Amino acid sequence: LKRKKMNQGRGNVPHVVVVTYPAQGHINPLLQFAKILASKGLKATLATTHYTLKSITTNTTTTTTTVGFEPISDGYDGGGFELASSLEAYLESFRAMGSKTLTELIMKFSETDCPVTCVVYDCMLTWVIDVVRQFGIVGVVFMTNSASVCSLYCRLNRGELSFPVEKGKVISTIKMSGLPPLGFSEMPSFLAQPGDPSPYLALIMEMFQLLDGIDWAFCNSFQQLETELMEAMVGLWPLKMVGPMVPSAYLDQQIKGDTSYGASLWKPTSYKCLRWLDTKPQHAVIYVSFGSMASLSAKQVEEIAWGLKSIQRPFLWVLKEPEKKLPKEFLSSIGEGETEAGIVVTWCDQLEVLAHQAVGCFLTHCGWNSTLEGLSLAVPMVGVPQWSDQPMNAKFVEEVWGVGVWAKRNDEGIVMRGEIERSVREVMGGEKSGEIKRNALKWREAAVKAISTGGTSYKNIDGLVEFLKAEKN
Ligand code: UDP
Repeated sequence: LKRKKMNQGRGNVPHVVVVTYPAQGHINPLLQFAKILASKGLKATLATTHYTLKSITTNTTTTTTTVGFEPISDGYDGGGFELASSLEAYLESFRAMGSKTLTELIMKFSETDCPVTCVVYDCMLTWVIDVVRQFGIVGVVFMTNSASVCSLYCRLNRGELSFPVEKGKVISTIKMSGLPPLGFSEMPSFLAQPGDPSPYLALIMEMFQLLDGIDWAFCNSFQQLETELMEAMVGLWPLKMVGPMVPSAYLDQQIKGDTSYGASLWKPTSYKCLRWLDTKPQHAVIYVSFGSMASLSAKQVEEIAWGLKSIQRPFLWVLKEPEKKLPKEFLSSIGEGETEAGIVVTWCDQLEVLAHQAVGCFLTHCGWNSTLEGLSLAVPMVGVPQWSDQPMNAKFVEEVWGVGVWAKRNDEGIVMRGEIERSVREVMGGEKSGEIKRNALKWREAAVKAISTGGTSYKNIDGLVEFLKAEKN
């Protein structure tokens, strides 16, 4: 009934369904994109799995969104990915059930005065384009990695990326136009395991295979951040920059009241975090988070813990199951109340924390959203990348954008406490800290400019909006 009311008299408004993979790092940018479309007068609906929608409504208290939500199925409506026997089984099931239920969703809307005119889909959901083509509507693929990372996948798919190998070992750096020379351990991890390909790599290759026949492809980044790369890729792909997808209150206030993504999969402990941060001096706190997916080894958690302790600065650490993961002596050593050395919470509203004046350093796994958020809010970073695109993002944070330091692993793959301490000290008062802060402020300004009226990302989004409005008339 509510939806019917909403649709009344909106027959001429283009309707965009935005389909996202059910992970926090995908929901956030795609929902943000849907909100922007809605703010420009389009009807926008976010479609994701049943189980994910249930978590969102349970954990999200302040929904600022003007976007509608609709479920589709991955075949595991009662529990999502956790119920699948393997990643391959999950992806296959999602492909079959997702295609069927997205088709049904589009058909359902076709009987209203708000038929679907366009589907924007997450790059992980390669099957959506087949559904879109059946209906003859506009399809837009949305990349959730940096354009630099995408360019490596694109070149691999085109047969232009090969690794110089000798006796089974990669012997030198890769040189691709528009990118700095890349060592093997600086590439996305899916490329660094050629003998043991991840199911994700197969999916990514399928995506780039399809890219040739696609008119619309967007990337959550901005032109100035990756200028050289974008120039090197002209004519090789249709990718356009539309980011950063960060709620507008943190950038330029374009959408009134847009202070959070509005779809949290876990309950944030906002009040506790903000009250505690309020007691700390400006730029004093180290914020530590490894995103929603990374699972650190016990040894790595221990090294981070003692590294943080030895820095002797207040820290706010997001860690699921802290009692299970942290050494007992560490937990008892950090004390309690406002005088404690640090606090550990299981989830927070990361943007709220990064935007707080007390935060002076972001110890991050360099997931792409976290990296963009750090850049957009001018928070100096220490990268402790784990897998996927994170090592390449960490390299760019240190070497290309100059907004932080990449804390390096030892031969056993662990970032030791001494390296954690050295890196954090470097960005919080060390020799390079002044330059890092200046760069951070410069990139924040560029991010705000890109997404503000007349900016490069703004224009690219408007290009789609105008196209859809013209189609409708
Ligand atoms: N995030 C959050 N609270 C936390 C940790 C993370 O809201 O305690 C958000 C963060 O702002 C980001 C997303 O979760 O938008 C994580 O995405 P990212 O690409 O950084 O990492 P992933 O979870 O995909 O590894």
